Amino acid sequence: MKKIISFILVLALAMGMVGCSRETNKVVKLDGTYEGTGVGKSGNIVVDLTIADNKISKIEVKENHETEGLSDAMNIMTNDMIATNSIDVDSVSGATLTSAGFRMAVKNAFEKTGADDSVLVSTGSIEREKRESEYTADVIVIGAGGAGMTAAITAADNGASAIVLEKMPIQGGNTLLSGGEYAAPGNWIQVEEKIEDSNDKFYADILKGGDNENDPALVRVLADNALAGATWLKDYINMEFEDHQLFFGGHSVERSLVPINATGYEMVSKLTQKLNEKNVPIHKNTTAIELIQDENGKVVGVKATYEGQEITYKANKGVILTTGGFGSNLDMRVKYNKDMNEKILSTNSVGSTGDGITMAEKIGAQLVDMEYIQTYPTCDTQSGTLLYVGDVRMEGRSILVNKEGRRFVEELERRDVISKAVTNQTGGVSYMFWDESAMVDSGLAITHEAEYNSLIARKQLVKADTLEEAAKFFEIDITELKKTIDKYNQYAKDGKDLEFNKRGELVPFGEGPYYIMVSKPAVHHTMGGVKINTNAQVIGTNNEIIKGLFAAGEITGDIHGTNRLGSDAIADITVFGRIAGQSASK
Ligand code: ADP
Repeated sequence: MKKIISFILVLALAMGMVGCSRETNKVVKLDGTYEGTGVGKSGNIVVDLTIADNKISKIEVKENHETEGLSDAMNIMTNDMIATNSIDVDSVSGATLTSAGFRMAVKNAFEKTGADDSVLVSTGSIEREKRESEYTADVIVIGAGGAGMTAAITAADNGASAIVLEKMPIQGGNTLLSGGEYAAPGNWIQVEEKIEDSNDKFYADILKGGDNENDPALVRVLADNALAGATWLKDYINMEFEDHQLFFGGHSVERSLVPINATGYEMVSKLTQKLNEKNVPIHKNTTAIELIQDENGKVVGVKATYEGQEITYKANKGVILTTGGFGSNLDMRVKYNKDMNEKILSTNSVGSTGDGITMAEKIGAQLVDMEYIQTYPTCDTQSGTLLYVGDVRMEGRSILVNKEGRRFVEELERRDVISKAVTNQTGGVSYMFWDESAMVDSGLAITHEAEYNSLIARKQLVKADTLEEAAKFFEIDITELKKTIDKYNQYAKDGKDLEFNKRGELVPFGEGPYYIMVSKPAVHHTMGGVKINTNAQVIGTNNEIIKGLFAAGEITGDIHGTNRLGSDAIADITVFGRIAGQSASK
């Protein structure tokens, strides 16, 4: 029956195209608005598809739980679907699961016409933005993550013209995927809560966390400017922050600010707004491929590709590399650290392929700390993504146990220490345990509702009324787990964790329901990269600066040493992004 309808419609559409109005009336049968559902990265995507004159005329997303920012993929695909009158448009890179779920939803809606989507007659092609073959600005910034956008805004504030190149269709990089937390000693919440902190304490924590492999001069700059960077984000970029902090592993005091809704979207969207206000363009889908030098070796521009077209970007003053790390480049990972092989998943954006490091190395930049690759200890065992529900650990309200029901590491230890400990447990996974009061107090099931529901649906998280039920779900030794919890509650009562010396206030576990979440480590941050000085100038293998070339953010090495502490990256990209913007625009 469906085939027959399709045949009639094809016939009708074909006739409609040659202008037979009476036949077109038959085609009107397709017209209307149809609802469809698909499954995206974080749950259902529901759309209303409107067909008018037999063409896709409107697609409205009525429900979605996709990562903010990456959900822009649905707008891009909507435009493409309308432009081509086809559902089979390309996925948006960097948002593969969202793209697949959206396409599924539109297909599902179209099925309700009773026809097959092959009856849609393709009309025209996608109109891509037109580009010149050459552009000139004072400053060219490569990579529109947090560091790049910060650098471009600062350059513009310094009176320079700037253009930002971004290879992905959506800006944000790893910054967008992060929780956006920012370590700032002396911040407004610490003042309110009378938490004593200082730049020196932060400086010492960063060095200790990086096993003193860091460059102390760069760490000094980061520590001394972190608060000013946070204030700049709050007061000038208009970022909103939650009214509480998090206690990240390896920090000696609670100092990590949390953006509203605890995701990097707040930073990326507000930086984008500021760039728009300042008329600084982001050239998306534009991949930088080669740095251009003049006869004296000064970097004066970059070659890039856009939709197969080669474009030259000339820089009057400087080029800033902010292309992020190389966590998504398996070959590069293994080249520098053979343990970081295909068995380890990654939390990173697909754009984190180390392009800037490779381009800089080609013109003689010094690379440092390349072997130091950080895994985040508690990621999704299926996709490798960061699990925000797991932030209950940083609230100090959960413990990590193994299959045998025992704790095996201090839960607020450094990421590398916890990751290593997890890898040594049965199955290479950990089980995070917490109770109902921790769930309610942290509010994480609400803030990250879509992730919470997805974890439950995929059996990666269990909520159970009794300890027995929760342990049974993951076949954890219940007798040992009970002993572990009793011991922990005793430590909380005594105010001291005798086994692992867990820092912060210990809160005992109480009544159910109880929660257990399985997770494992995944590549999260590459500490190594190009060597810079305190002005964010790139240093060559001859220890001289490479004129005209600046770098900031995850692309740089030597700031975090062997191991980056949680929430130090956002401080780093802000502090050095601002410095790079200032230096390059001089
Ligand atoms: P950081 O935290 O240092 O700002 P991010 O990962 O947030 O790093 O951002 C880096 C950005 O650089 C990403 O959006 C990524 O897609 C972009 N990028 C990477 N390589 C290139 C390239 N060759 N050309 C243009 N943009 C790039």
